[in-house]
Amino acid sequence: MKKFLGIDVGGGSIRGTVVDKEGNSFFDYSIPTESNATNKEFLESIGDVVKHCLAATTVDAIGIGTPGPIDIDTGVLISSANLKNLSNLELVSYVKEKFHLPVYFNNDANCASLGEYYFGAGKHAKSLVVFTLGTGLGCGWVVNGKIFNGYKGNGMEAGHLTVVKDGALCGCGQRGCMEAYFSTKGLLARYSDLTQLEITNAKDFFKLVSENDKAAIQILDFAVSVFAEGIRNVVHLVNPDRIVFVGGITASYDLFGKSLEEKAKKIIFPVLANYLEFKVGSSVAGSFGAAALAFQHFEP
Ligand SMILES: [Zn+2]
Repeated sequence: MKKFLGIDVGGGSIRGTVVDKEGNSFFDYSIPTESNATNKEFLESIGDVVKHCLAATTVDAIGIGTPGPIDIDTGVLISSANLKNLSNLELVSYVKEKFHLPVYFNNDANCASLGEYYFGAGKHAKSLVVFTLGTGLGCGWVVNGKIFNGYKGNGMEAGHLTVVKDGALCGCGQRGCMEAYFSTKGLLARYSDLTQLEITNAKDFFKLVSENDKAAIQILDFAVSVFAEGIRNVVHLVNPDRIVFVGGITASYDLFGKSLEEKAKKIIFPVLANYLEFKVGSSVAGSFGAAALAFQHFEP
């Protein structure tokens, strides 16, 4: 039986999991992500995770998912908003040379989408769109079982679709992106704009919503409306049969999901809306998606 190591670089941790094609997990290891790490320090951390996993069990190939922008052809992590000191990191060549195994690389949202496709709520979908609702708003499209990469692995950056012209400032430097409204960063910043109050996490924001806090409800309602517009745009571009929502914010799906689905379906072409299915993801770890990337390339 072949086994694959998936490595997911998240805001909180670098996690490695060894899995087989059925999604059985054999070993799991993670260390905290050092957000100030230099190229050298970061590579050492990745090397540490791989080393621990390979000491526990043999693997046939390695898949790695990181935030981007990336270059999947050269295996370079170009830069990342949350890992500020990294620049043109030659990630794939480092891991290949050190461990002598095939290494495959893609961005974290694309890997998350592939994980849902193989092991989660995206199973058997022909055209699967996955939105990752966390600190930011990521997106991936798995079409006929394959990640849509665009040119270098940076396709489907739906979080930076403009949904409000001249709207709120986004972390990317432009205004009116979907991420500036429907993401943890977006919801907290918009709440702070309106009330001058600081909230530090999504859980507290949604607690206010459930307690009928007027400002929080107003912010969430508007965010849901613009997210529905963004979903409309994506649906009319790539014609999904299923949309899956994953990430921390989905813990509060009961507070916005129904309204989001209704609003989106109302403005999508009826034929496309009829067969479009919305689902909340199965919390498939990003490392499983990265492992899926490895086995998909290793044994197509
Ligand atoms: Zn943006």
